[in-house]
Amino acid sequence: MRVKRDNRVVILVICIILICIVASLGFKTHGEVEEIVQEQFNEQQLLLTRQSAAGIKSFLEEKTVLIEVLAADISDMSPEDMTRRFIPFYHKPSGFSSIGFVNSTGVIVTGYPVENTAIGLDLYATNKNKSFDRAKDSGETYSTNPVLLVQGGIGSTIGVPVYSGDEFRGVVFGIIEISTISEQFLADVIPEGHGHVYMITRSGRSLYDGAHKEELGKKYIGSFCTDNSSYADILREQMQEREGTGYYFDESTGERRIVAYTPVVWRDRVWSAATSVPASEVDNLIRSVYAKQMIFLGSVIAIILGGSLGLIVMFSRWNKTLEAEVESKTGDMIRMNKELLLANERLKELDKLKSDFVSMVSHELKTPLAAMRTSAQVLEVADIATETKREMLDIILRNIDRQTNLVNDLLDLSRIESGRMELKFERVSLDSVIADSIESVKQAASEEGIKLDVELSESLASVKGDREKLTQVVINLLNNAIKFTPRSGEICMKARELNGQVEVKVSDTGIGIPPEDLDMVFDKFYQVDSTLTREAGGTGLGLAICKGIIEAHRGRIWAESELGKGSTFVFTLDKWSD
Ligand code: ADP
Repeated sequence: MRVKRDNRVVILVICIILICIVASLGFKTHGEVEEIVQEQFNEQQLLLTRQSAAGIKSFLEEKTVLIEVLAADISDMSPEDMTRRFIPFYHKPSGFSSIGFVNSTGVIVTGYPVENTAIGLDLYATNKNKSFDRAKDSGETYSTNPVLLVQGGIGSTIGVPVYSGDEFRGVVFGIIEISTISEQFLADVIPEGHGHVYMITRSGRSLYDGAHKEELGKKYIGSFCTDNSSYADILREQMQEREGTGYYFDESTGERRIVAYTPVVWRDRVWSAATSVPASEVDNLIRSVYAKQMIFLGSVIAIILGGSLGLIVMFSRWNKTLEAEVESKTGDMIRMNKELLLANERLKELDKLKSDFVSMVSHELKTPLAAMRTSAQVLEVADIATETKREMLDIILRNIDRQTNLVNDLLDLSRIESGRMELKFERVSLDSVIADSIESVKQAASEEGIKLDVELSESLASVKGDREKLTQVVINLLNNAIKFTPRSGEICMKARELNGQVEVKVSDTGIGIPPEDLDMVFDKFYQVDSTLTREAGGTGLGLAICKGIIEAHRGRIWAESELGKGSTFVFTLDKWSD
């Protein structure tokens, strides 16, 4: 029981320690998780803006190269032919809102589509000749800051000088609407409802804003935030072509937002693309990571608890089995101990019986010897009367018989025990055995004033047996009955057939046998401890010999008795069968 309780306590303590370790690890990682998720989220936002910036950059590069190819293509063409050449360039999914040509005097002479081109516009007259002059002087491609377009919206112009041989013919230009870029590279970066993307120029003007589409060209600082706000700080970083992430407080909605920004560098233009996402998005993400962490923690704790319970149940069962085994083994030992004690007691009894026997046999041998000696001494005297002589001789002869009987009994018993008793089997009629036996005890019974009755079934079956030995058994039982029945008592002999056997009973109205002695009277040397037994004398061998003889005939013998009322000795033998 102690072991069982100890095991449970140890398992419970280990279980609690494990749960504490797991829980503390969980809480420790809880804080780290928040930081990591935040970092990763910012990193991811930054990656998105980088991707958009790279897309925009390669788009603009491609358009520039296209215009440069076109410039080489149209170097010797007339303006009319140029227009035809522009058409396939325009219709290719090129993204230009118009393609046109400015002649060497700074006048737009042709373009496609016509409605998007300010044909006839003199750059010098309208003071838009700065980039044109630079291209004319350097022979290099240029790009302009986004400006308002004739067809609406804002766009940037890519201009490439055209030469015919060494002669400067003018500039071929393509206009790219910023909305084309933003639709393609910015509009779908962040799913609707989760934030927006915006792009600003180096001077902080809006080129695109997913949240304020109508505010194009406006300066952020001043329009969307005050000069000393946290947002203004981020915008200033953007205007300085930096890359990074930051938090700001949106004054209009009152929420905290995360901005990831990166510069978009195209030739001599530098813009800045950015994603702006509510900080609650990260919180949601952190919460979902926490939820998963809690599920994992819960599962681990459940596994620890389950495992511990399983172990406790296993140990209890194991202990129960052990207990049962110990109990059964203890039971066996107690039983064996009892058996040993009984055997010991039996041995002691046997030892006592043997001692009793030795003293009894010595006594039984000595008494007749003493009587014989006295008689012999009387006979020594020469002149004794003839009658006295006769008496002395009788005494001597009786005592010789007594000793002979004792020695015979001892020899019989020794033969029975060593299995050397020889039986002469023949067909024996029990009628005659009983008659002979009655005949030999008749006188003794009448001397004791005891009535002898015999009840035999008619035509009693014969048995297979040794006539002499069976007669010895019946005489012995009758002699005992006479010995232990007071004067004027009765003895009755009965014999009958029962269940294929012959049953013989010798009943008396004598002193009876106590119940605890009933089985033991058949043990050798056993005598019931009573005054009458002592008076009656005897050796305690008679019934042991009877039992030996009956069992050698494969029969059974037993005693029934009521103390003070009488005893019945019964034996059964198999019927004779041909
Ligand atoms: P013995 O008669 O020589 O003592 P037995 O073996 O014949 O030895 O009997 C053993 C004991 O059984 C007797 O000493 C006696 O105590 C008891 N006994 C035997 N027969 C009877 C009887 N008919 N009635 C009462 N006691 C008997």
